[in-house]
Amino acid sequence: MTALLWFRRDLRLADHPALDAAVRAHEQVIPVFCFDDRLLAGRHASGPRTQFLLESLHDLDRGLRDRGARLVVRRQRPEEGLVELAREAGADEVYFSRDMTPFARSRGKSVHGALEAAGIAERAFPGLTVADDVTGVRTKSGGGPYSVFSPFYKRWLDLPRRAVLAAPDEMSMPSGFTGKGRGSIPSLEELGLRQEVTDPQPGGETEAAARLAWFLDGPVHEYADLHDVPGVDGTSKLSAYLHFGCLSPRAIEAALAKGGGGNEVGGSEGAAAFHRQLCWRDFYHHVQYHYPETARTEFQERYRGGRLAWVTDEGRLSAWQQGKTGYPLVDAAMRQLLREGWMHNRARLLAGSFLTKHLGIDWREGENWFMRMLLDGDQANNNGNWQWIASVGVDPQPVFRRLYNPALHQKRYDPDGKYVCEYVPELRGVPEKYLTEPWTMPEAVQREAGCVIGKDYPKPIVDLPAAREAALARYADAAG
Ligand code: FAD
Repeated sequence: MTALLWFRRDLRLADHPALDAAVRAHEQVIPVFCFDDRLLAGRHASGPRTQFLLESLHDLDRGLRDRGARLVVRRQRPEEGLVELAREAGADEVYFSRDMTPFARSRGKSVHGALEAAGIAERAFPGLTVADDVTGVRTKSGGGPYSVFSPFYKRWLDLPRRAVLAAPDEMSMPSGFTGKGRGSIPSLEELGLRQEVTDPQPGGETEAAARLAWFLDGPVHEYADLHDVPGVDGTSKLSAYLHFGCLSPRAIEAALAKGGGGNEVGGSEGAAAFHRQLCWRDFYHHVQYHYPETARTEFQERYRGGRLAWVTDEGRLSAWQQGKTGYPLVDAAMRQLLREGWMHNRARLLAGSFLTKHLGIDWREGENWFMRMLLDGDQANNNGNWQWIASVGVDPQPVFRRLYNPALHQKRYDPDGKYVCEYVPELRGVPEKYLTEPWTMPEAVQREAGCVIGKDYPKPIVDLPAAREAALARYADAAG
């Protein structure tokens, strides 16, 4: 008996429920990945993220080879590629991990139809989120989906969890698919994409496991104190691995719970705080599942349909994207993205607040830029967070609460300027007292610091107090 294991964004061998079940039930399992042009060239196409994907696939193939199998690659839509491959191999079942984003669900319907028409059974399994049932959970009061994080979190802590599964020791697949017939993993260039970031994290389950081990070995215990300091390597940097499923979120939770037991995390305040962040990921997947329209429009109806008067300004948008706004912490954030394809969460919040509030630019512009550059660019997390920081999404708060002053933010979260100076080298000679507002440096100090404002570093592109007032007025007008 032969089955296909359709890899999607679950690119790992450990704690993979669909793979585990397939290997247990079938003598031969063919692992397959389909390169789908709808994703590669769609509205969220990304060279950096696709390169990470390719590295993850190579690592997966190495892991499969160690177990006696190989990754079969198809450059086709899965509704075509899976049916063809199943026919060639005489497979009668396709195993995969269930995904809940709007695109995955609509594609899933096409795959379902094609498999059914061909008489091939499908077997869907959990594995993308910490708790298996993030879509089924409902509020106790109204019985509807959650749209506020804290009550979701309380409930999530009590949701049932499955046992963590080991990677299969051995696998077997028909010999016709271990050689040329398996296809090959293309290069980024062959896919028509290019790497746009200079110093990205490497992809793959092996790298993910090493980073997790490093994080659990120490930094996690200081996470509560340091996770908001962008100049410190104090967060897990596991987001891209989680996005592509190189790591199982449930396995991370279980590792945190060691010694603690249950779903509650033992060990330290830091471990508990980190665990809570993992819940944000499950929360945004819950939200996207129940409110799929938010993939393109605001969660809050009062801001939909152009009621919020967004500003169109290509020059300012470009200055923001390139890290040339004249506000050091915003610029450091945006340049970290250009360098690493990753940005610290505190920096993402400030960059998002600045774009949508101070510049008044549509959150969708920010969402699109992040999706192009981020290795961890994730439909549910990115969209949910952009709506959150633009004050148009779930978990609402008054607009001014998420309208951050870049200089005050810098004083609070990067007081010694370590982060800013790392990513904005032209500020390295600036005396510390001017680092948050370099345009206030007297001319002689600017010359001495090698940082003449308007020449070596941009003048601020917007007047903050006026921009703040305009933002508050825009939201008030839209809300009526
Ligand atoms: P850690 O602090 O180590 O957290 C561990 C994990 O928890 C993360 O890897 C992530 O999976 C999850 N997590 C943490 N914070 C959040 C959050 N606020 N929302 C959802 N999940 C969270 N995260 C993405 O994974 N993909 C995105 O495309 C993305 N876009 C964002 C856009 C904006 C405007 C903002 C403000 C945040 C965005 N985030 C996104 C959330 C968060 O910034 C990143 O998950 C985090 O910075 C990744 O770094 P880390 O792995 O070191 O996080």
